[in-house]
Amino acid sequence: MGKLCSLRNLFVLSLALNASFLMRVMYKEGLGHSINDIFMNKREGCLLVSSSSSSPCATATATDTETDEDKIVNLDHGDPTMYENYWKQNGDKTTIVIPGWQSLSYFSDAKSLCWFLEPEFAKQVVRLHQVVGNAVTEDRYVIVGTGSTQLYQAALYALSDHQSDEPTSIVSAAPYYSSYPAITDCVKSGLHKWEGDAHKFKKPGPFIELVTSPNNPDGFIRQSVVNRTGGVLIHDLAYYWPQYTPITNKPADHDLMLFTVSKCTGHAGMRIGWALVKDRVVAQKMVKYIELTSIGVSKDSQLRAAKVLEAVSDSSGKEVCERDSFFKFAFHSLEQRWKQLREAVKKSGSFSLPEFSSGHCSFLKRDFELQPAFAWLKCEGEIEDCEGFLRSKKMITRSGKHFGVSPKYVRISMLDRDAMYNLFLSRLSAIRL
Ligand code: PMP
Repeated sequence: MGKLCSLRNLFVLSLALNASFLMRVMYKEGLGHSINDIFMNKREGCLLVSSSSSSPCATATATDTETDEDKIVNLDHGDPTMYENYWKQNGDKTTIVIPGWQSLSYFSDAKSLCWFLEPEFAKQVVRLHQVVGNAVTEDRYVIVGTGSTQLYQAALYALSDHQSDEPTSIVSAAPYYSSYPAITDCVKSGLHKWEGDAHKFKKPGPFIELVTSPNNPDGFIRQSVVNRTGGVLIHDLAYYWPQYTPITNKPADHDLMLFTVSKCTGHAGMRIGWALVKDRVVAQKMVKYIELTSIGVSKDSQLRAAKVLEAVSDSSGKEVCERDSFFKFAFHSLEQRWKQLREAVKKSGSFSLPEFSSGHCSFLKRDFELQPAFAWLKCEGEIEDCEGFLRSKKMITRSGKHFGVSPKYVRISMLDRDAMYNLFLSRLSAIRL
């Protein structure tokens, strides 16, 4: 036994010596990477540069030898990493510790209509809406979802006509959010069917109209457009926050409103959204859908989201200095980006952007023009395929055809990190047709 032990000790010692020898050689030879760096580079290798817009890789990453000219600018997804700068400064206010014995039960509040909703999360949702003044929460059911993507599906399930032989028609005015058609039809449900542009919708029978306001992709404030009875509305208010649009002094008061932390605070990876629902039966059906598809929503994420929303509300008080206010940070970042983009477009002379009128924001107490999370860019002149044209300049964007309109348009994320956005600006401004 003693012999065995000492043999094993010798083996471990020799391994350790070899590892430390290797490390020393690497540093001496000028490789200068720590083991951590090596792992990091490997990981970034996976994220590295893809020229296909359908790639799951969200961002281009530079290798050591890559120059700015070589880099792919990927602004296809609306990944809200711009907000990292704020949360790096203020992240400690949202740190939570979840001990191992917590979150074992499926239930958050077994007696409540939405039995998987964490009461603290619901409380912070209501508080934030009251602080910002963007939506009515009185006499509304709060329903939590795995992102507003799940709540959208839950709403379709709840509002579709379950008795009819025909699927309920789902429409939205073009340009509409490119994910709606795919999500609506992904399981070829007999309950509902995507019928496209609400402006062109003529089909008889029940329908659901999606109203996204401010709109993704073009940023405009919207109202329903189908002018007949027999329909119900879903209001997707993912971008109805004061960094994107002036908040009017009348809070949104629709029957079914969807929100998400992804576009409010930038925490898309937390996968938390919420719905404010007026009707009890509709709310019950939405809860049923979430029960059937995922038996509730991550408690850990809800607790973290509650803390983040609390920090955002706390940072919105009058006494908080400009630098610490989340919405002011987000507002000024977007204000600067939109100003820079308009200058770049003017310098190039090859593109155009939507023009927005100014409105008064009751939350920020100032007038400003919309500054959407996406730029809806049009290629002027002969270019018909704007996405293809920009791709030839190593810029990945999303073509207008995915939003139900002409490929002369592309959607560009305004919420990426500074380095990516600045590279995009310099490349765009240099284009001459
Ligand atoms: N609705 C709109 C209009 C969106 O733009 C997005 C995100 N791109 C979503 C919903 C989905 O949000 P979530 O991350 O909460 O699923």
